[in-house]
Amino acid sequence: MNVLTTESGDSQAITILGSTGSIGQSTLEVLAKHPKRFSIFALTANTRADLLLEQCEKWQPKYAVINDSEQAASLASAFKQKALPTQLLVGAEGLDAVASESEVDVVMAAIVGAAGLQSTLSAVNAGKKVLLANKEALVMAGALFMQAVARSGAVLLPIDSEHNAIFQCMPASASGLGSESNSGNGLEQGIRKILLTGSGGPFRRLALEAFADVTPDQACAHPNWSMGRKISVDSATMMNKGLELIEACWLFDCKPDAIEIVVHPQSVIHSMVEYVDGSVLAQLGHPDMRTPIAHALAWPERIASGVESLNWSQMNGLTFEEPDFQRFPALIMARQAAELGGSAPIVLNAANEIAVAAFLQERIPFTAITAIVADCIEKIPFEEPMSLEAIQAIDSQARDIAETACQAFDDLVNNASAPQ
Ligand code: NAD
Ligand code: MG
Repeated sequence: MNVLTTESGDSQAITILGSTGSIGQSTLEVLAKHPKRFSIFALTANTRADLLLEQCEKWQPKYAVINDSEQAASLASAFKQKALPTQLLVGAEGLDAVASESEVDVVMAAIVGAAGLQSTLSAVNAGKKVLLANKEALVMAGALFMQAVARSGAVLLPIDSEHNAIFQCMPASASGLGSESNSGNGLEQGIRKILLTGSGGPFRRLALEAFADVTPDQACAHPNWSMGRKISVDSATMMNKGLELIEACWLFDCKPDAIEIVVHPQSVIHSMVEYVDGSVLAQLGHPDMRTPIAHALAWPERIASGVESLNWSQMNGLTFEEPDFQRFPALIMARQAAELGGSAPIVLNAANEIAVAAFLQERIPFTAITAIVADCIEKIPFEEPMSLEAIQAIDSQARDIAETACQAFDDLVNNASAPQ
């Protein structure tokens, strides 16, 4: 029996796309506190079949999806051996199915990177309540995505802590987010600007000369947040804040110049909204993703997340700084991409994904990440993609160019170490 199913039958069925990741696991932790409110419809993973199996044993969902087809047969036989009621689906089609199935009420979109776009869009097109963690989907396909939200009547709620904070500080809205065009009119209700805060990442104080030598483990050791490795590296380059700037433009229907990035190393304030009368509203809390997850799951109500109260007597002051654009050029590139729109954010995101993966595999140095992104932006001519296919074509062109640039680094390193 599904541990989350209620007898009254009024629980909401949820699909978690990316249940084995950091956000996916935090979502399950929050759901465990509310067995009467939610039932798990589907859980999905890319390659971590062992963890997916463990999750299915505990939660007994109707469906599970493994993206990696090579692991499907052994996982299916493990389901059978353990007599699980869960049906296993495979690959992109499986993800689309569990994101859009009519029984599903809520979809947590927590796959990392462009890989999550298609299934997240399927959930949007099916008019689901979509909890969006997968910021890359919105960065690469913002216009299409928001049009789909408006057309289908999907309720879109932000999980990214900053965007969730901004949403909480906005004037009360009855219907979640969504405007068909990025008209820049979203901030008309007396809002002067959005203050997007960021911790500054693990290298906030690191000298520019030392950047070339940082290791993946150092880059992933975020001072305040525990996250997946891709977003951790993005936080270290501050590309994460850049992607979040683009994400905020779409979610709140505003122009990039309405958003100011503020470095706030303690990560207690998660973002702020400033009004024309001078009032600034902020949302505060521990840096723990269970808070925005619980907020979005229950919105417009509130439910417990398991996150403790802030301890005010131990708060040693909240500080704020301007970002350093010289050491973190990703912030400049992302703002330019936000202003340009069209293919620019697609190229930025795709090149960044490839370069971050290469850095994590120790194929390129940390400083090469933003250099490769800049190179791709320069090489790929601007265009205005009008369809998902056009977006995917630009994405794949940028990936190819970025991969070639990573390969050039490999060759450089190999040539340097080859016997003369
Ligand atoms: P993660 O690496 O911990 O987990 C990623 C999940 O996506 C895993 O379940 C993995 O199996 C799945 N996945 C990866 N590639 C896939 C593919 N090709 N096909 C299908 N599934 C695939 O990442 P995370 O930290 O949980 O981040 C997930 C998303 O949430 C990212 O977009 C990230 O930017 C965003 N986000 C994360 C945090 C955080 O605290 N972790 C905060 C804000 C936003
Ligand atoms: Mg964030």
